[in-house]
Amino acid sequence: METALPLSCACGQLRGRARLVGRELRLACHCRDCQAFAHFLERPDELLDAHGATEVVQLGPARIELTDGAEQLACMQLSASGLMRWYASCCNTPVANTMSNPGVPFTGLSLRLAGPDIDGPTLDQLLGPIRARVNGPARQRDPGAPPVKVDKLPLGTILRSIQILAGGWFRNEHTPSPFFDGTSGAPRATPRVLSEDEREQLRQRVETWA
Ligand SMILES: [Zn+2]
Ligand SMILES: [Zn+2]
Repeated sequence: METALPLSCACGQLRGRARLVGRELRLACHCRDCQAFAHFLERPDELLDAHGATEVVQLGPARIELTDGAEQLACMQLSASGLMRWYASCCNTPVANTMSNPGVPFTGLSLRLAGPDIDGPTLDQLLGPIRARVNGPARQRDPGAPPVKVDKLPLGTILRSIQILAGGWFRNEHTPSPFFDGTSGAPRATPRVLSEDEREQLRQRVETWA
């Protein structure tokens, strides 16, 4: 059975929905690059969880539909070979991560884009719990938060990711994509690639942030 996750940036200009079919993978990523992105957006305290993680759900881009405010989409890359990190430029809400190759049917949709009516229990109902915490270490920002376990090499998670990717290829879920033009394959916003200096500044902010 298909369900829909309503999507909205913080200010409500960019909206849409993600079609869920029950094969999605919900992950919390603790990597420094995701933290650097939250700092780039100048909202690390709101965007990252109590352990410094970014929550995403993996699915094919064809299952993400932007109904309003698509012109707010902007894109950055920490380096020329890095993931394309999409966000709503109106209020700096992260939207999704994609590969730079438009043929790859794989998106990490930010759960910070879940609509304002979607609380924690509703998200659990729609997506199930976080399947894995990856790319540690976890940071303990809130001494009162219960500690979390970060998996080193969660094989089940990797296999499920491969399954999502394979299913995406099979069902041609790389297109239509809210991120790439279906005909030319060009990104719908020109990615801003950070300079080495900018990257280094973000890295330092990540290191000193608690
Ligand atoms: Zn916005
Ligand atoms: Zn990450």
